[in-house]
Amino acid sequence: MSHIQFLGGAGGVTGSKYLVTYKKYKILIDCGLFQGARSEREKNWDRFPFSSDEIDAVVLTHAHIDHCGLLPRVYAEGLKAPIYSSNATKALCEVLLPDSAMLQEEEAKFRSRKGRSRHSPPKPLYTAEDAQGVLKQFKPLPIHKSHEILPGVSVTFSHMGHILGACSANLTLGEKTISFSGDIGRYGVPILRDPEPIKLGDLLLVESTYGDRDHLETDVLEDLSKLAFDVYKKGGVLLVPSFAVGRTQLLLYFIRELQIKGKFPDMPIIVDSPMASDATSIYGRFPEFFDSETKSKDAFHPQNLYFVRDSNESRKLNQIDKPMVLISASGMLSGGRILHHLYHRISDPRTILLFVGHQPKGGRGDWIQSGATSLTIFKEEKPIRARVETISSLSAHGDRGEIIRWIKSCSGSPSKVAVVHGEEDVAQKFAEQLNKDLGLNSKAPKYTETWEV
Ligand SMILES: [Zn+2]
Repeated sequence: MSHIQFLGGAGGVTGSKYLVTYKKYKILIDCGLFQGARSEREKNWDRFPFSSDEIDAVVLTHAHIDHCGLLPRVYAEGLKAPIYSSNATKALCEVLLPDSAMLQEEEAKFRSRKGRSRHSPPKPLYTAEDAQGVLKQFKPLPIHKSHEILPGVSVTFSHMGHILGACSANLTLGEKTISFSGDIGRYGVPILRDPEPIKLGDLLLVESTYGDRDHLETDVLEDLSKLAFDVYKKGGVLLVPSFAVGRTQLLLYFIRELQIKGKFPDMPIIVDSPMASDATSIYGRFPEFFDSETKSKDAFHPQNLYFVRDSNESRKLNQIDKPMVLISASGMLSGGRILHHLYHRISDPRTILLFVGHQPKGGRGDWIQSGATSLTIFKEEKPIRARVETISSLSAHGDRGEIIRWIKSCSGSPSKVAVVHGEEDVAQKFAEQLNKDLGLNSKAPKYTETWEV
């Protein structure tokens, strides 16, 4: 008999974390950071219902921080177990986890200056040392091969599109198998392969970020081209808050396509994020994750592309009064250099602020998208005069139809389905739809709920 406890990605999108117990073993599947609203972020400090040195293995579906960003904390608390992932996930974590640690340390410093902290003196969630330490425990596994990680416990990864290295994971525990969809990518988008069908186990955990909607079937190239020319004519900036990993490379790919077709104005494309710069070069190192059309790393290098690493150079961008594309992180506006760009550009009517990814409820992006007329940033209320646009089909997540398409493509018949990684009402509704349309036995688990497998 095995059990699974939902320690994140349940009742919300972020913080994916599932504790599987089988015989005497404890296995952690993903270990993500909670992001978005303060009430969610506070959960990053919750006590774990396990002692970190008791964990026997960690399985990681992909490198997004909401799936791996709490690993350094578990490490700081005594994790000794190996962390199994794809090779590309490991490479991306080598960039993402130290960066996340830096943000945690900066936030602690900020809180100590402001005297706002639950700890005295304020301490970061984890440090750069913790991030470096946990990276040593990664053990990359090949895709499609079953690997015994503990006696009677094996894991098999399959390609899931989404971002470089992202996989679904089948975890076999004796006679039973739990299938983790991880984050499901899109079908027919450039660069990465389509989500691969797998044999579903007894329990399926399926994500539901967009379980309540279908992406607008717009022509991304056409939309992007139009926005670029609009901003170019006005002499403004196309400001794109973008996830450093995945979305940025997809944008660069589309811009290059448009340039080749002569449908992109002659203006610089600036990627102001050291992490996005590193991630772009890591993408070039793992062509085995690409689809058949994307073979070369040049695919992510349009003309006129500049990577900005230095933070002084980043600040100097504020003085530029010429049309440009400015891509910066974080994609959820939760921190990073995008904030000072927003501060300087959001009140300028020549700016087009373009969202290309999911904005969690209660976060800054959600606030702006809801039609707000001002935004408090660096403690100052700035009027929003920029034009706000969204291209949702650039999302790295499959929509409702694509998630269903993936489930239908799989063999096997799970006796239970846990709908996870969605806002509470979305996951609930999607579970009802799966029951009605596919005859599944689905439910959306609550945070910290435990199920028997
Ligand atoms: Zn993801």
